[in-house]
Amino acid sequence: MIVLGIESTAHTFGIAVLRDREVLANITDSFTTAHGGMIPAKVAMHHEEAYLPTLRKALNQAGIALRDVELIAYSDAPGIGHTLRIGAAAAKSLALELGVPLVGVNHCIAHLEVTALTTEAKDPVLLYCSGANTQIIAYDEGKYRIFGETLDVGIGNLLDTFARDLDLGFPGGPKVEKLALLATDEEMRNLISLPYSVKGMDVAFAGLQTNLLHKIKTKEFRTEHLCYSVQEHVFAMLVEVAERALAHVGKKELVLGGGVGCNKRLQEMCSIMCEARGAKFYCPPNQFLVDNAAMIAWTGKIMHERGNIQTTVENATIKPYERTDDVEVTWK
Ligand code: AMP
Ligand code: MG
Repeated sequence: MIVLGIESTAHTFGIAVLRDREVLANITDSFTTAHGGMIPAKVAMHHEEAYLPTLRKALNQAGIALRDVELIAYSDAPGIGHTLRIGAAAAKSLALELGVPLVGVNHCIAHLEVTALTTEAKDPVLLYCSGANTQIIAYDEGKYRIFGETLDVGIGNLLDTFARDLDLGFPGGPKVEKLALLATDEEMRNLISLPYSVKGMDVAFAGLQTNLLHKIKTKEFRTEHLCYSVQEHVFAMLVEVAERALAHVGKKELVLGGGVGCNKRLQEMCSIMCEARGAKFYCPPNQFLVDNAAMIAWTGKIMHERGNIQTTVENATIKPYERTDDVEVTWK
């Protein structure tokens, strides 16, 4: 089956083409800025302009014609209303034009489902670390359950805001990672003490964000030492909660998802923790960690094939606030 996937929950617009388990094309076009962050209406305008070139590129690379597509999958939740609407409108008109079924996909669940396509993991716990989302998710009795999450901002948003306060531009995570490498030393002498906020199974970053802003304003700290220290603190918080989730649900596999998952230090910390407790750590290639449409196409395909799920064009909608555990998983 040939599936066309559309991703538009946040800063990335993506279109992918999947034939069975083979990713024929996975094209993304992301909104970026040199200074400042994301303004929803501007990101939506970016996606609207990106739609046709991205579609053409994806079809070209896949070597198929639009009429070969047999199923359309689009991310319908959760995310920024402005941008979700662009993807949904594109998906609806394509489904209508081609006369093929349409499936709406929860983006967070897609990050987990795609690990079955891109790693050897069978029944993992997902440490999902993206811009707006930070959740520890695992399947249990008919739903993907959230075992821990951020109580305020997402880990990527924290890194992006911190980078914006340093005037590094958006997205900030990769810039923070690069600068942090300049400060790494064996004795951790460059480690600045920062708030470490783990509450039960949840994490919180807002206090840390304010603390960092104060530290930046004093000009008493070197930027690379701050970057290094932020990473050490926030990744330790995430790995601590992920480890507790593994213990709690008795699962033996951890996978990473989300753009922050590209961070080599986070990957290293995850693999050290997994080794210590006899679990396996898997990390999908970067193109499937960041927001992408291949994961939407894959999840839409298994929802349709195994769960007989289909959305009519009339009922196709967006659900900006849908939570991972709102979705009844009928396809497993
Ligand atoms: P997503 O929303 O899953 O596409 O992820 C986007 C987020 O990932 C943004 O907040 C980026 O700053 C962050 N990000 C991307 N690459 C890295 C990296 N190497 N280290 C840390 N954060 C990153
Ligand atoms: Mg994401």
